[in-house]
Amino acid sequence: MAVSIRVLPPDVAAKIAAGEVVERPASVVKELVENAIDAGAETIRVEIQQGGKRLIRILDDGCGIPSDEIPLAFARHATSKLVTIEDLHRVKTLGFRGEALASVAAVSQLTLVSRPIEQAAACRIRIEGSQQTAFGAAGSPAGTIINVENLFYNVPARLKFLKADATEAGHIHRIVSHYALAFPHIRFSLQSDQRTTFQSTGSGQLFDALVAVFGLETARQMIEVASHSSGREIAENEVMVTGYAGAPSLHRGTRDQLIFFVNKRWIQDRSLNQAVIQAYHTFLPVQRFPSSVLNLEIDPAEVDVNVHPTKAEVKFKDPRLIFKVVQKAVREAVVAAAPVPSYGSHAPTGGGGYSTGYHAGDSAPWRTVGSFGGEQAFQFGFEAQRTNPGAGEGLRLDFGEPGEHRPMTGPLDETKMPLMRVVGQIQQMYIVTEGPDGLYLIDQHAAHERILYEKLMAQKVTAAVARQQLLEPAVIELAPGPAALLEAELEILSAVGFEIEPFGGTTYRLRAVPEILGQAEPAQALRDILAEMADGAIPLAKETHEKVAITVCKRASIKGGQVLSHEEMRELVRQLEATQAPRTCPHGRPTMIHLTPAQLAREFGRL
Ligand code: ADP
Ligand code: MG
Repeated sequence: MAVSIRVLPPDVAAKIAAGEVVERPASVVKELVENAIDAGAETIRVEIQQGGKRLIRILDDGCGIPSDEIPLAFARHATSKLVTIEDLHRVKTLGFRGEALASVAAVSQLTLVSRPIEQAAACRIRIEGSQQTAFGAAGSPAGTIINVENLFYNVPARLKFLKADATEAGHIHRIVSHYALAFPHIRFSLQSDQRTTFQSTGSGQLFDALVAVFGLETARQMIEVASHSSGREIAENEVMVTGYAGAPSLHRGTRDQLIFFVNKRWIQDRSLNQAVIQAYHTFLPVQRFPSSVLNLEIDPAEVDVNVHPTKAEVKFKDPRLIFKVVQKAVREAVVAAAPVPSYGSHAPTGGGGYSTGYHAGDSAPWRTVGSFGGEQAFQFGFEAQRTNPGAGEGLRLDFGEPGEHRPMTGPLDETKMPLMRVVGQIQQMYIVTEGPDGLYLIDQHAAHERILYEKLMAQKVTAAVARQQLLEPAVIELAPGPAALLEAELEILSAVGFEIEPFGGTTYRLRAVPEILGQAEPAQALRDILAEMADGAIPLAKETHEKVAITVCKRASIKGGQVLSHEEMRELVRQLEATQAPRTCPHGRPTMIHLTPAQLAREFGRL
């Protein structure tokens, strides 16, 4: 049956258009908060009831809307922020589409009261489902107040899809707190069912906003990131990255604390997530993610913000450049700050500094790494303490409880480890050294893993992996499982230095091994590495090379239980000094623990 084409009635068209912008209460909060920011507000208060379904109320002390322009503000495509299409390439405001107020008014019962400071009285307008039901003078302080009641009251299909109040309130919390991070000079607050759930100071310091959003403990563990000398005007085609990135100890199970702003607009971008994750390469356990809060300042002409009605995604003209700049800025900050976990100190560093506590993380403890790394169930939270002091026992290194958090100070600006004098070895496992600022305990296995890993990775870059030809090729017969794995990963095994030939069935001939493995028991080394690879259930080809490299290094490195000569220890420390990230092993464990003279003095009761 033929259906004749008709123009939609205006209220239907309005509701459909509104659906693009307003998906849930949090979208309303986002649009209205953006308007308040664009209006130059210094204080923005958000109040919600029942997750914003019953009421969203936003108060700002911004420039207000002149009475005669209020009805216009609710017309679709009415904006004070753009005039020509060229303006779109230089938008500095968060809004520009002129759609938000019209959209929100189409699907709610809305009251707006606004007064520019120079106007004697405020003006009040009420709109229900796009229909104006009241308009007139009112008393109100300078600024704007918007009440959005009963969102989607006239779109039952949308209403049905809203989640529980707590979930919707959570989304709103995310919006408000993220804008507080982007605009530290604005005082934000959020009240949910009469309870204040978020508040920022508006001090202008990003660090203060971090404290408001993540809490002091976490904020202290964040490292400042700055790609260029900040404060400089940005040139065309140039990106400036500023903000904070979490110390490696702040790893999380999800990516939801990778927060980005482009010219202060909160955006989501997978490629930027990836850039930050890569910056932490070998600093974090597998399947764990860092946190970061970064603002990218970029010429507005280099980025298209008009790809989506909610403006949550953007398109960069040169995404690869952006990726590189972000990755480099974060990597430099993290490498520079990778601290030596230090013994027992709880004293936080002052003013914007951070202290690092290696701890078990939030949900998944480091155990998950154990299956691949083979280091069973290591968890951090080292704290040297007297066990049972009355009984006169000595010092003991204690493992923290999962989730427990024990901050420790780390030197802020040491890119490299200090020069050290080797004192000796204890437990055939730790090297004791003295540096300019106290005592260091170096884990010989972890340290050697770091050295070998960087060596192997450097060789990979120059495509000259050092192999060692075996004088006598070793013939190995493998079980079907390891044989299949070997076949599948033959290329990667060869890239790290193995030379393997099929020799019929599941039998192989091993002609060469990575040089770092040495000649001892090459066949057994290959079997062990295959077993570890199988254990780690390597899923992604892209990361496989690194995982295999880490496995090879682990197998090749000095074990605990191995006695080292003084000369060998000196050489190990010297090589560790030369690495890029001497303070962590490729699994992300610390290679050393530091005890300062003050801590020693305290323990001996000299202070
Ligand atoms: P846009 O923000 O894209 O311009 P909106 O529909 O969100 O479109 O807002 C329409 C216009 O209403 C804005 O351009 C601005 O002039 C005015 N406006 C909206 N909210 C406020 C506010 N809180 N304070 C001052 N002016 C506002
Ligand atoms: Mg707007």
